[in-house]
Amino acid sequence: MDDVFDSGKFSHGKQVGQLETELAHYTGARHVIGVNSGTDALVLLLRACGLRPGDGVLVPAYSFFATASAVVLAGGRPQFVDIDPGTYAMDPEALDAAVTPRSRFVMPVHLFHTMADMAALDAVARRHGLTVVEDSAEAIGMRRRGVHAGLHGRGGVLSFFPSKTLGAIGDAGAVLTDDPEIADTVAALRHHGRGGRTLNDFPAISTESALPGANSKMDDIQAAVLLAKLPLLEEHIARRAELAAAYTARLRDLPGILRLPRAVAQTPDDRDVHYVYLIETEHRDALVDHLEGQGIGTEVYYPLPLPHQPVFGHLGHRPGDFPHAEAAARRAVALPFHPDLPPGDLDRVCDTIGSFLATTRTTA
Ligand SMILES: *Cc1c(COP(=O)(O)O)cnc(C)c1O
Repeated sequence: MDDVFDSGKFSHGKQVGQLETELAHYTGARHVIGVNSGTDALVLLLRACGLRPGDGVLVPAYSFFATASAVVLAGGRPQFVDIDPGTYAMDPEALDAAVTPRSRFVMPVHLFHTMADMAALDAVARRHGLTVVEDSAEAIGMRRRGVHAGLHGRGGVLSFFPSKTLGAIGDAGAVLTDDPEIADTVAALRHHGRGGRTLNDFPAISTESALPGANSKMDDIQAAVLLAKLPLLEEHIARRAELAAAYTARLRDLPGILRLPRAVAQTPDDRDVHYVYLIETEHRDALVDHLEGQGIGTEVYYPLPLPHQPVFGHLGHRPGDFPHAEAAARRAVALPFHPDLPPGDLDRVCDTIGSFLATTRTTA
């Protein structure tokens, strides 16, 4: 950070370039383009992949709002798909059923602790000629068959929002891709269309239209913080895995818990990363209140499925259209979880949940 202050170059400078190189090394991506947020990374990625106004983009019904808003900001139309209850990610069969003649993209999201079934989703996408991009904003460190999240289709993103697995001290994000053309387009779009020495030479998506650039550059202070934290990331991921295992061991046999994160094989080639630790219970809202009364903070991810958000009311979706997304929105809650969580705190959270569920059961 001192170097950044000394240089006086606070945006789109040397630290950003260095971070891009380090992240390319960490993820195995051929190209990493630093931007100002995960949300803008999604918007620029979709535009660079040739999204045209009105194109349908299939997204899961259950995700952070930015998954859907990025589609709208890029000029596309979100088309919602129910999730698989085990992974919380887009269900391949539901995807197959949701494709319409307007559909041109599919954007699976990797939520919480594991990845979408990319092999199955990719098979459906191929059958329908859909371009695959990934909302891998939460998925740093996750891999399948040796390939990092975000590199299973045309490209993906990372978010460095402070609460994410690798968090900055403000907003920052990145696009990951192996495709040099997409990388060049995103690099131009993040900076008013400036590529190399050519000023404001907006990349074309078709002969009739060009893509105006945005101001989506990354701050060097954020890059400096991320460069300092990146060497600790693997250690933090290992600590997260230990904490998740400790939670699961303590909560597994409690009555009233409907679902805990499903354990999957942990090999360097096929790895999940616990961004949060999420449980499901029918008594979610009462449990959240009870924990809050005991001074224990929780987070409800995500309380309303995307298709039921007021802003998408015009699409005409009804309760019951996305049963798995709706069940997760009603029952899921994330427990206190970060690499420095003291074991005593974890025990206290589990004891408090245990006694609450025991009384809820006897009075029910
Ligand atoms: C955090 C997040 C985003 C947005 O990232 P920001 O950096 O906050 O803009 C998008 N999608 C998902 C799934 C996220 O968790």
